[in-house]
Amino acid sequence: MAAAIDEGVGKVRRPELLNKIDVEVGINDALLLTSEDGILTALDDRTLRIWLRRQTGKYWPSVCHTLESSPTALYYYEPSRRLFCGCDSGLIHEFIVADDFNKITLECTYFGHQIRIQAVYFSYRHELLLTVCREKKLNCYSTNPTDDDRKNACGSYTLASMGMSITMDETFRQCFIGDSTGNINFLKLNANNRFEPNKPLSGHTGSVQNLLWDPDTKWLYSGSFDTAVIVWDLAAPQGVAVELNGHSDRLVGISYDNLRKLLLTCSADGHIGVWPMNVKRNETTIWLENDSCQICRMPFFWNIREMWTQKQIGLRQHHCRKCGRAVCDKCAQTRKALPLLGYETVQRICDDCIKTLRNDETVPLASFYDLRQGTIKMDYRQGKKVMMSIGTDRTIKMNFRRENIEFFGKDNAILRGWLYCPSSSSSQSAIIMTHGFSGLKEMGLDEFARIFCCDGNFYVLVYDHQTFGSSDGQPRHDINPYSQIDDYSYAMNYLENRLNNKNISIGIWGTSYSGGHVFVVGKREKQRIKCIVSQVPTISGKNNLARRPQWQKILAEDQHCLYENREYIPIVNQTNENMDLSNSFYHFFVDKYNCNEWINHMTRRSIHLYSQYEPWKSLTDLSPIPLLMIVAKHDTITSTEDQIDAYEKQVLEPKRLVLVEGGHFSVYPNEQSFDIVVKEALDWFIKYLK
Ligand SMILES: [Zn+2]
Ligand SMILES: [Zn+2]
Repeated sequence: MAAAIDEGVGKVRRPELLNKIDVEVGINDALLLTSEDGILTALDDRTLRIWLRRQTGKYWPSVCHTLESSPTALYYYEPSRRLFCGCDSGLIHEFIVADDFNKITLECTYFGHQIRIQAVYFSYRHELLLTVCREKKLNCYSTNPTDDDRKNACGSYTLASMGMSITMDETFRQCFIGDSTGNINFLKLNANNRFEPNKPLSGHTGSVQNLLWDPDTKWLYSGSFDTAVIVWDLAAPQGVAVELNGHSDRLVGISYDNLRKLLLTCSADGHIGVWPMNVKRNETTIWLENDSCQICRMPFFWNIREMWTQKQIGLRQHHCRKCGRAVCDKCAQTRKALPLLGYETVQRICDDCIKTLRNDETVPLASFYDLRQGTIKMDYRQGKKVMMSIGTDRTIKMNFRRENIEFFGKDNAILRGWLYCPSSSSSQSAIIMTHGFSGLKEMGLDEFARIFCCDGNFYVLVYDHQTFGSSDGQPRHDINPYSQIDDYSYAMNYLENRLNNKNISIGIWGTSYSGGHVFVVGKREKQRIKCIVSQVPTISGKNNLARRPQWQKILAEDQHCLYENREYIPIVNQTNENMDLSNSFYHFFVDKYNCNEWINHMTRRSIHLYSQYEPWKSLTDLSPIPLLMIVAKHDTITSTEDQIDAYEKQVLEPKRLVLVEGGHFSVYPNEQSFDIVVKEALDWFIKYLK
C-alpha cells in the first residue's frame, strides 16, 4: 500500500507558516542561524541585522549594524561566529558575532573589488575567502589573522563572464563559480593560490545563481535561471549530469539535507521542490536530430526533398524525453512524468517507449509546495527542519511541512490538529500526541512532533482535546479524561483512513494528564498500539488531590451537584496557597506560551472528574506493549514518588524508566530536560514502531 501513503507526493501543497518577519526594506541576503532561533539579514538600508525569536514567538532585532554601503552577500561560519559580508561598494567585511548575538565586531576589511559583491565563500579549513563581484573578477584572500597582508587579495582570476555563485570542494581545493551565461567555471586553487582553470561544466542555458557542494557524495548541485537544477556527479569516471525538471520559474535557492538525503529547491514563483537523492536517476537523454520522424518516417518541414518525393507537408520535430529520438507530434501523443530521468512534470513520450514503459518509471519522486508568493531567496536548516524564504514583499517567512487537519471525536465533536508527514513515503508508522491538563498543541508540542517526524521518519498527529483550543465540543474548557481517552481511538481511526493503511504501526505519546491517559488507551487498544511514551504522568487523582487544598475546598463546597457543575473556576491561581504548584503552572501557561487561545478557566466538574481518575490501575494490563516512562526528579505536581512506585510495582516488561533533572515542567521545549526526553522518546519509537 506504499502508493496509497504516497498521497500528495507530486502535488502542490502549501507548507505551514511558522513565523513571519516584516522587514519593510529591501532584503539583499539572509541566512538562518543554527545554534539559535535567529536570522541574519543584509538589508538595502545599509544595515546588517540579527533577528532573534523571543519567548513571545516574535522575532526582534538584537543587532543593527550600519555599513558604508548596502550589504549584498553573506557567509556565516557558525562554529567560530565569523561573519563575512560583501557590500555594494566592493568591500568585504569580516565580523565576529558575540555569544549573545547582541554585538558584532569588525575584524577585517578586504579590498580588491570596486563594484557590488555577488557572492562570498569562506573555507575555514584553508583559511580562505573567495569572492566574485559584478565585474568578471574572482578574488581569493587569506583570512588567517596572523597574515599581515590579508586585506589584499592573494589570488585573482578573470572570468569569461560575471560570477553569480561560488562553492568549493575543500578536499581538492576545486572552486566552482556559476556565471551569467550558464557555465560553471571549474578551477583548481593551487598551493600558491593560483587559479588553474579546467573545462567549464556546461549544461545550463541561463545564469547559474545557486551552487551547492555535497562533500559526502561529491555531487555538485546547480540551480539556474533556465528553471532546471543539474546534479553533477563528479566522482563518476566520465562525470554524470542528471537534470531535475519540476520548476517553471528561475531557481532562487538550493539546500541539501544530508541526514534525510533530500534536496530542497526553490524557484522565484514560490514553488518548493523536495527531491529524494537516495534514488538512482538516469542521465538525461540527449536529443537526436533527424530529417524525418524516427517512427513513421514522415519528413520534418525543412526536409524539402523528402516532402516532394512523399508528396507530404512537412511536420514539426519533437523529441521523446525517454529515448531522445526525433518524432512527429502524431507518433508522440502521450504525456507522462519520468521522475527517474528527472522529469517530475508531464513530458512528451513516443509511442514505442509507451509500450515498454513500466509503472514505476512514472511514479513521482519529488514533492512540491507552494509558498504562494514571489520569492527571492530560500535557506533551510536540517537540524531545525525549518525553511526560510524571502518574499518579494520584503518579508521573511519560516515554514515547515505540516498540515492542518480535522476529524470527528467522541460525540461527533470536531477535533482539530496538525499532521506531520515524513519525507520518506515508505513510512509505515505514526505517533499520536496530545497535551496535558488544559494544555494546547501550541504549547510546545510542535517541537516534539517535528523531531519525531524528521529524525524518526514517522507520521505525527497532534490535536487539541475536545472543548479546548481549536477543537470543538461543549461545554468549553471541560477537562473530561474519559472523552479524552476515547478521542485517542478516534485519532487512530482517522490516521488509518487518511493513510489508507489498517496495518500502520501506531505509537501513543502523552504528557502529564494525557501521560496517564495513554495507560488506559494502551490497555483498551492492545491490538492497535505498538508502544507508549508517557512523560511526567498523572498516576492517581486521589493522591494528587491530597496535595491541593484549594481543590479539596471546591470539592467540599460542591457535594450537592457533583458532576454536573458547569460553572467556571480558574485553572491557575497566583494566590494559591500552594505556591510551588501555582507558580510553575503560571509560568508555563501564562508567561512562557502567552498563547491567545488559552484561557485560564475550566468547568468545576473538571476537578470532580480529576479526583476520581486513577490511571495507574491500567498499568498491570499493558504488557506486552512496551512502555517508556519519563519522570522528573522534583515533580511536585504529579509526584515523583507516585510515578516511580507505579512503574516499579505495576508495569511489566518491556519497560524503561528515565529520570531527568528538574520539576514537572522541565520536560518541555527550552527547559533543562527537553533534549534528553525527546531523544529518549524518539529512540523508543524507533525501536518499537519500525
Ligand atoms: Zn511520426
Ligand atoms: Zn521514445
